[in-house]
Amino acid sequence: MDIVSSKIRSRIMAAVPQRNTSPEMMVRRELKSLGIRCRLNDKGLPGSPDIVVVGRKTVIFVHGCFWHRHGCSRTTWPETRAEFWSNKFEQNVFRDRKNILSLRRKDWRVIVIWECSTADPKTLRRRIRRLFDLSVLKGNLTNRPRS
Ligand SMILES: [Zn+2]
Repeated sequence: MDIVSSKIRSRIMAAVPQRNTSPEMMVRRELKSLGIRCRLNDKGLPGSPDIVVVGRKTVIFVHGCFWHRHGCSRTTWPETRAEFWSNKFEQNVFRDRKNILSLRRKDWRVIVIWECSTADPKTLRRRIRRLFDLSVLKGNLTNRPRS
């Protein structure tokens, strides 16, 4: 039998931080607050993108800088087993490129948001607004030429 009451348990759960502060959650929160509707972890698409933006043929990967080798200060190297890590990282980067290419070939717009760029919610929100050109989104779904 569970000796912790559900009230106490929910307080304990609420104290577990990483769930709500993960880079992916930050991105999802901003999308939601801007009224952009999303599906999560679409297994039917190459690389199971973290976020699929409904009706925009757009996917978003929220990449951890360490695992996906962003090249920023968070892209550190483990101190041991250099060869193992080197292979592992190479595979990750290769897989990412492959997934992005197959998505683009299927006419998906692919957006990569790096973990380090989610730290400041204001900057993140500005970027997402720009990415989705919200003034256009409100009126119609015509795609503007993308860079
Ligand atoms: Zn980074």
